[in-house]
Amino acid sequence: MLWDDVVGHGAIKRSLENAVEQGRVNHAYLFSGPSGVGKFMTARTFAAAMLCPEGGCGECNVCRRVVEEKHPDVAVLRPAGKNIPVEAIRALRLDAFRKPTEADRKVYIIKNAERMWDEGASTLLKVLEEPPGNTVFILVTANPEGVLPTIRSRCQRINFSLVPAGELRDYLVERKGVSAEKAELVARLTGGVLGRALDWCDDPSRLSRRDGVLKMARTLKQADINQALEMAQELYREVKEPAEELASVYQERKRELADGTLDDDSVRRLSKALDEECKREQLKEEIRGTKEIFSTLAWWYRDILIMKEGGDALLLVNVDLAGEISDEAEANPAQKVIECIELLGDAMKAVERNVPVQLNLESALLGIQEVLYA
Ligand SMILES: [Zn+2]
Repeated sequence: MLWDDVVGHGAIKRSLENAVEQGRVNHAYLFSGPSGVGKFMTARTFAAAMLCPEGGCGECNVCRRVVEEKHPDVAVLRPAGKNIPVEAIRALRLDAFRKPTEADRKVYIIKNAERMWDEGASTLLKVLEEPPGNTVFILVTANPEGVLPTIRSRCQRINFSLVPAGELRDYLVERKGVSAEKAELVARLTGGVLGRALDWCDDPSRLSRRDGVLKMARTLKQADINQALEMAQELYREVKEPAEELASVYQERKRELADGTLDDDSVRRLSKALDEECKREQLKEEIRGTKEIFSTLAWWYRDILIMKEGGDALLLVNVDLAGEISDEAEANPAQKVIECIELLGDAMKAVERNVPVQLNLESALLGIQEVLYA
């Protein structure tokens, strides 16, 4: 069954499964909760469960096409660029009043449903106010406050929360073939966010980057100011690297544009759009990388504090470094460790305010050095 692939969210799965079985499916849902916990996957599974004669067997032609987003009666709307284009919502409105092609109903899944301009949102509202009989709308969002209250009030709200680390770990071991030790560590490091956990398992550089960052934190003690600045420089290079890889991906996409099928004007216009998108994506990637470094450090000092207060080693995030954590706990006063955590919280906020990455990394490392070792 497709439901088995959805990690965690037991109560939500059961209630949606029951709704399908008992023919009590509502016409509109709002799936809300943190990014990366599996809202969209649940929405797609729910759609397959409604259309598949076996309630989402995962094997049949219907299930397969829903999962691949190729079923004619299941449409997925996503933002193009920053927002969901109003044209797409108008098209949806027209489509919703047509008969389903194969199934007995149509399902519309709207990803990032908070990203609709006024006109798009009011068009959707009109559909929800008088929904065609055999349609189901599933709005998916990490930011329900960004969805019009009048839209929200017409949807059944389903709230997703983080997946417990234990369930995440078991899933990684049983379904993804990750070793038990690595799964335990990744489940803790990614704090119950399935999407992030999968990224960490797929990309071994994530773990080695964490190791590098924590090693740096430990050597700050012996470092002079120049060495600390060099460390910040090295972290900065690591943050820049994936952003630069993106640039070459976009270069390639631009080259493909000029294959002769489009006129010069269109090529120019599209490649300008690609340049802009590339810049946005690079910035996003830098922000993600910088936040990851700060959160790695914050969890590290949080672990030290827990050990200091005599907490259980089971509560540690960096379970594999219990020995090192205990050494640090012995060497540093609690008040100073707390100061480091606060300092990293400020650095995280500075990321949001677009403080230049390198500057932010430098002041964080020098700040920690000053607090702990000056
Ligand atoms: Zn099926």
